[in-house]
Amino acid sequence: MLLVGYCFGIRSERRLCEEVHLNLAYRWSCRLGLDSDVPDHSTFSKAPHGRFRDSDLSRVLFEETVWRCIREGLVGGEGFAVDASMITADAHRQRGVAGVAELDSAKASRAVQEYMAVLDEAAFGGTSETPPKYVSPVDPAARWTAAASGPAVYAYCDRSYLIDLDHAVIMDVEPSTAIRQGEVQAARTMIERTAETFEIKPERLAADTGYGSAETLAWLVDEQKIEPHIPVFDKSTRRDGTFSRADFVYDADADRYTCPAGKVLQRYNRRFKTVRDEPPKDDTLKYRARMADCGVCKLKSACCPNMPARKIPLSIHEAARDKARAIAKTDAYVTSRRQRKKVEMLFAHLKRILKLDRLRLRGPNGAKDEFLLAAAAQNLRKLAKLIPAPTLKPA
Ligand code: SF4
Repeated sequence: MLLVGYCFGIRSERRLCEEVHLNLAYRWSCRLGLDSDVPDHSTFSKAPHGRFRDSDLSRVLFEETVWRCIREGLVGGEGFAVDASMITADAHRQRGVAGVAELDSAKASRAVQEYMAVLDEAAFGGTSETPPKYVSPVDPAARWTAAASGPAVYAYCDRSYLIDLDHAVIMDVEPSTAIRQGEVQAARTMIERTAETFEIKPERLAADTGYGSAETLAWLVDEQKIEPHIPVFDKSTRRDGTFSRADFVYDADADRYTCPAGKVLQRYNRRFKTVRDEPPKDDTLKYRARMADCGVCKLKSACCPNMPARKIPLSIHEAARDKARAIAKTDAYVTSRRQRKKVEMLFAHLKRILKLDRLRLRGPNGAKDEFLLAAAAQNLRKLAKLIPAPTLKPA
């Protein structure tokens, strides 16, 4: 019955019971006879937190829809796309408390206990070292956040969807807290889990700039051997008219830059007794010009007007970024960028047609169950659309 509700956008459990009671097709789908009793709506309030969750039923059900799509040949497995969008949590926007310490642990609800359990997880509490300014007492895992338009609300980063680009079959879904680091972590989890569960790893992954950080690109290129069809997150281009990093020439053999004035920028301008080859803590190498060179340089006002000497930061994952930049010049990248819109269309469908614009269940597990059931419903609708039903022969 829950699946019927998700497939046809019936969000109220009371209404779902009424619809199944009256609609013969729904009864047939739920294997209820004409005179069978329809379960009470309160069943749906209790079952998701008990039997369903203990058996991980939502994930089993969702994975079964993916297996079915694979068997029907709807999954190519060559190109995937990943994206996430926000969904409002079931929490009043004006009833927040200032920080986690304000949560009354003595009267902790199930959602609060679940939040405490995921405080160290990379997709929730571990995404950021900055403590949240406001916390919802009824669903603290939701993040106080503002969309591009409209007032701030408590929200989850829903719909971190990983889809196959052939027919936009949803391969995996993962909830996370509503900040970018959470989405990126969710993407990594989904790629690893898809490889483990279905033994499918894509050759290319399409995503937006939010997934184009140096660490993520290095993880894709070096560890996963997946081509990143992702715009590089690059802040090296200066917009104030001064020289950008591209104006400096890098010599890989000598590991140094040469500036437009012909001076050398090196990682170390002093000779150390012991060689310093440990990786930097922030994964960024810094190449510095000599103050003696910059101080008398005629180009200083166009290079580093506010600093005594120019400094060029370079990520230790620059090779992966270069690979992504090279891919961005190919025709395949243009195709991937066009195909990436399929994820956006799934989000729009979820919101407009399946009416999932606000969660009904609370806590990380509630969000996970809702996303899995919604994704299962979208895959089932795709199967129904693309695989024609066998025609019944007259008796
Ligand atoms: S300011 Fe320094 S780094 Fe910049 S061009 Fe002049 S010498 Fe080179």
